[in-house]
Amino acid sequence: NKNLYSLFENRFPANMDEIAFEGPDIRSYSFKDISDGAARIANLLTQTGAVPGDRVAVQVEKSVEAVILYLACLRAGLAYLPLNTAYKSAEIEYFITDSEPAIVVCAPADLTEISAITSKAGGKKVFTLDATGNGSLMEEATAHSNNFETIERTGDDLAAILYTSGTTGRSKGAMLTHENLGSNGKTLKNYWQFQSTDVLLHSLPIFHVHGLFVALHCALLSGAKIIFLKKFDPAQVLENLPKSTVFMGVPTLYVRLLNEPGFTKDVCRNMRLFTAGSAPLLTETFNAFRDRTGHAILERYGMTEAGMITSNPYEGERKAGTVGFPLDNEVRITDDDGNVVKDGDIGILEIKGPNVFKGYWRMPEKTAAEFRADGYFITGDMTQKGEDGYYRIVGRSKDLIISGGYNVYPKEIESFIDEMPGVEESAVVGRPHPDFGEAVVAFVVPDDSAQKLTEQDVIAYIKEKLANFKVPKQVFIVDSLPRNTMGKVQKNQLRDRAAAGQ
Ligand code: ATP
Ligand code: MG
Repeated sequence: NKNLYSLFENRFPANMDEIAFEGPDIRSYSFKDISDGAARIANLLTQTGAVPGDRVAVQVEKSVEAVILYLACLRAGLAYLPLNTAYKSAEIEYFITDSEPAIVVCAPADLTEISAITSKAGGKKVFTLDATGNGSLMEEATAHSNNFETIERTGDDLAAILYTSGTTGRSKGAMLTHENLGSNGKTLKNYWQFQSTDVLLHSLPIFHVHGLFVALHCALLSGAKIIFLKKFDPAQVLENLPKSTVFMGVPTLYVRLLNEPGFTKDVCRNMRLFTAGSAPLLTETFNAFRDRTGHAILERYGMTEAGMITSNPYEGERKAGTVGFPLDNEVRITDDDGNVVKDGDIGILEIKGPNVFKGYWRMPEKTAAEFRADGYFITGDMTQKGEDGYYRIVGRSKDLIISGGYNVYPKEIESFIDEMPGVEESAVVGRPHPDFGEAVVAFVVPDDSAQKLTEQDVIAYIKEKLANFKVPKQVFIVDSLPRNTMGKVQKNQLRDRAAAGQ
């Protein structure tokens, strides 16, 4: 049976009373609680008439019950479809109409609204689940048996539909199979050397690939315990780090931890691994973290459509500003026409492997456009392989600026601006320009140092270092960069602001 749940089950400890999940705001859950709970919910979901392949759309606060619901869907062969808790009704309507779920699970407060949308989209049933793990889902599930025979699945069967973050445009539903998730999970577990004795401190949201798949699968595939935080709270992280061995974060979480005076080497005494991803980790953060804790953050790179694609080494040097080496997928770097570029040149990363998704949900044209004839998926990430063999993500192809016929990679300019004294961070985008096609515009966040940073300072600084066509035509000094929950800079918004001149 290629059902992903079976892989997890194989790793459950002999003593099922061992703790699987615990945390400051929750009760403790044994592996037996997890397995019984998943069986009860799987029975309940099946009883609604939902059949394998049907979608279960879920927009709920983070809870262990939500994780159990995910496992129940796997067991029942239903496609789990988590939705960002930040989405409001218009967005939810799009996702539900697009995915036509048989079942929707939502917060109690949203029941009336979601029920109307769901029945319009042909759904069968809506359950509620609140932040404390209560609601009709768990109430009705308790009446069901804790026995459920996990549905037989082939590797190619759908396990989940995960919508992309919508950084570059409207979110797309990535169809992920049991094989996609299982193979990538095993790869990461081995590469990062997870053991049953590990304790994962989990503070990420569970509607996104990072918190849901990368973090949970590493733990579940090794029978490790999870300290489960409802959300990222620096004080709670500090309190629980001494009991933990692994932490996974997006770059902004590391910046926030470094702002805590109590974040010390001693707090990290039992830690063996910190990983970062979902957005680029600044070299400055990497260095500050190493100075403070003695740990080199392991940066990896991936995406909703393929799970993790590259990783810095577990043993061996972890290099700041790089995402390490390809994992168990084939990779190549190509130009716009799909020709492989010379070693060291920048191009778009293409990948092929068991981790690569089946396609975008109900978007056959989009799917066809993103795959090459020989099966490689075009990630859209501009990449460079260094002489050292390490891969660097230079930015997204959609963010590439073409000014006066020259390619301008925002990351190159951002790196220079970030090195400037008095600068915290920056983002560079293009703005339509009558002569050059596009002009470079920079948004710069000053750091806490007393001196006042001006537009002219930044322009003068860059002028000395880079060719004229890369020098920003305009610089906005701003308090912060717009970011989403995963710490991704929203360049769409910055482009709009640059075009509007504000
Ligand atoms: P959408 O596809 O809807 O525009 P998105 O690409 O942000 O949104 P995700 O699948 O959540 O949605 O994010 C994957 C992207 O995140 C990658 O394609 C890459 O651009 C970026 N990314 C992930 N990890 C890293 C990293 N370590 N360094 C730089 N970029 C990263
Ligand atoms: Mg994307």
